Amino acid sequence: MSALYLHIPFCKQACHYCDFHFSTQIAQKEEMIQAICKEIGLQKNYLQNKTLQSVYLGGGTPSLLNLQDLERIFEQIQRFFILTPQTEITLEANPDDLSQEKLQILQKVGINRLSIGIQSFHKPHLAFLHRSHNELQAEKSVKIAQDVGFSNINIDLMYAIPAENHQIWEKDLQKALDLSIPHLSAYCLTIEPRTVFGKKLEKRKMQPIDENFARQQMQILMNTLKSAGFEHYEISNFAKNGFYSKHNTNYWIGNEYLGVGPSAHSYNGKSRQFNIAHNQNYIIDIFAGKVPATIEELSPKDKLNEYLLTSLRTCWGAEKSKLKQLYPDFFQKNQEVLQKFEKQNLIFQNNKKIYLTEEGKFFADQIAADLFWV
Ligand code: SF4
Repeated sequence: MSALYLHIPFCKQACHYCDFHFSTQIAQKEEMIQAICKEIGLQKNYLQNKTLQSVYLGGGTPSLLNLQDLERIFEQIQRFFILTPQTEITLEANPDDLSQEKLQILQKVGINRLSIGIQSFHKPHLAFLHRSHNELQAEKSVKIAQDVGFSNINIDLMYAIPAENHQIWEKDLQKALDLSIPHLSAYCLTIEPRTVFGKKLEKRKMQPIDENFARQQMQILMNTLKSAGFEHYEISNFAKNGFYSKHNTNYWIGNEYLGVGPSAHSYNGKSRQFNIAHNQNYIIDIFAGKVPATIEELSPKDKLNEYLLTSLRTCWGAEKSKLKQLYPDFFQKNQEVLQKFEKQNLIFQNNKKIYLTEEGKFFADQIAADLFWV
């Protein structure tokens, strides 16, 4: 199975927590669309399987693209790859871009899944995060999308935003449930060094995120969504009625994918490839016919560690046969650690797989790191 990711590196304004690659110089959009279309052609042979299971337009803010931009991109995709009626085609959108007209355009070009970056329905929290939308647009965007006919909708929410208690988070979750969406991604607010929050923290103008508070909010999240019938299929992702994200699942299970656009990553089973995270230099190189990417060959150790990191975070767990195949000594080396985690009720195992328990989900990355091949 193959997946295609397109990185649209423009945003109206910078959210204070964000360390994705983007620019607010939207005037460069035309050149960028041309470059992205050209890169799709340059990279046409990267994927073994030309039939795409998913296409994902992320960023940045792909909902800034207009009909002509999207038509050109999809025309180019269809010149080199195969889209089928089953291909999941997701577009990340900000609520303030989603008018009825825009949603009809998205439908017309074939977008069949929306991922709406709501983050919060609470006005002061949206201002704190420096989002470009308000609480009314957050709610309205989902309702208009549903009215226009989108049924496969994800919303992103953020927890651990500083607050006196958990009331705002509980209300945010309730609002999300009231909107009857089939998929929710919830991410813990983290403070990254290159962001506005990172700089504030460095100057001691902001407190670090309270880990205990974050943990309590994750527990509220898991309890609330479980009671509402959602399946917690990956640490940050919840789906109802099998509405899993095909695109992200493809990453987690280690299938190949091609990433196009500045800062996009690709993976072909043997190596990873990272495009340059600089709009102007990306455009110059692509127009000169060269993909500005750094290639990283994956050692057996890298492959095992990546598999542990991603598979343990999912409800499908880590396959013992695969762990052995990647590292024949895995179980000899880790027997004691695995027993310790089992005693602590952080993992459980059967003949075929290792899974995290509910308690283990709070320590997913640490558990994986303790099992790494070092
Ligand atoms: S809209 Fe998304 S990509 Fe753009 S700054 Fe905000 S979080 Fe980052």
